[in-house]
Amino acid sequence: SIRAPASKQTATLQVAVKCRPLTDTEQRRSRHIIQVIDDKTVVVLDPDLSKDYLDLIQNRTKERRYTFDHVYAPGCSNSDVYKNISSTIAGVVQGLNATVFAYGSTGSGKTYTMVGTHSDPGLMVLSFRTIFELIKKDDSKDAFEVSCSYLEVYNEVLPLFLLLSMICLRDPLDTWSFREDPEHGIIVAGLRSIKVHSADRILELLNIGNSRRKTESTEANATSSRSHAVLEITVKRNQKGQYGNQVLRGKLALVDLAGSERASETNNFGQKLRDGANINRSLLALANCINALGKQNKKGLAYVPYRNSKLTRILKDGLSGNSRTVMVATISPADDQYHHTTNTLKYADRAK
Ligand code: ADP
Ligand code: MG
Repeated sequence: SIRAPASKQTATLQVAVKCRPLTDTEQRRSRHIIQVIDDKTVVVLDPDLSKDYLDLIQNRTKERRYTFDHVYAPGCSNSDVYKNISSTIAGVVQGLNATVFAYGSTGSGKTYTMVGTHSDPGLMVLSFRTIFELIKKDDSKDAFEVSCSYLEVYNEVLPLFLLLSMICLRDPLDTWSFREDPEHGIIVAGLRSIKVHSADRILELLNIGNSRRKTESTEANATSSRSHAVLEITVKRNQKGQYGNQVLRGKLALVDLAGSERASETNNFGQKLRDGANINRSLLALANCINALGKQNKKGLAYVPYRNSKLTRILKDGLSGNSRTVMVATISPADDQYHHTTNTLKYADRAK
């Protein structure tokens, strides 16, 4: 079996910002400081300055205006976000790799965006529904095999839980080994990959994993705000050709990142980021990789430091080569989140 031919195409990166609505409690005590100007532009009002919002937008806030590939206003659904990434997800069935991650401070809507609710299913759910629909509709003679794994990475000292293992292993992070396999890409030793035949089955596994995530978090005295959850779906396509069989393998990583407030103490990330005592090493490493990838898009090759954290090593396949990356930066519209919101927008702005 042969791996998908390496394409000359470089990795592509799409950066989107999604603003959630004010929650019921916030409606009573917070002011809405986010103005979505159009589907690519967002303005953040400085809560200390704003008296008259419109006046500010027109006259004073030029410097707080950000543009992205897509900006989603509080009324947007997860499906609205999904529409703009569906072709990236469809590529996975053709043997391309993709990574979609939600970045933002705790409470900004990462899990809502990735997992969603029954009436507003998230990007994870919409993605695997598409994958199975495309396989069903496929009119080639190709045989497909879909498998998924779900793992959680706690930063620094904490263990890595394999959310879908029968037993939650608690080996220290450093005993986990990674392998780069020419055929399968990055392999995390011990991670169980489960063959799946329907979107409902993945949803079931996702729910099992998420309930474990909660329990394990309480036991380890950590919260989900400190861990990254990585759902990986692999689509193997067996093409029967005249001259033998060929295997195409597409990997999709869907990542609900740890709360970015832990990385926001750092100021600039054009500079090399320092790994301060309480700062999430993985988030910083990811920032550096995304930043390098952004430069690569504009100027050709750049060194991307995947090896600096477990998270970036796990995600390497989905960030490099012919893969496509989607970053959804989530923000709250509330004035008391101003600091986190501007940090998230700066991070996202740097990534572009
Ligand atoms: P995070 O995972 O970033 O910590 P959550 O996804 O848990 O944040 O969202 C925080 C709160 O905001 C939750 O109560 C969630 O239901 C709510 N929320 C987030 N996004 C939306 C949205 N688009 N519409 C309605 N409620 C939302
Ligand atoms: Mg969450």
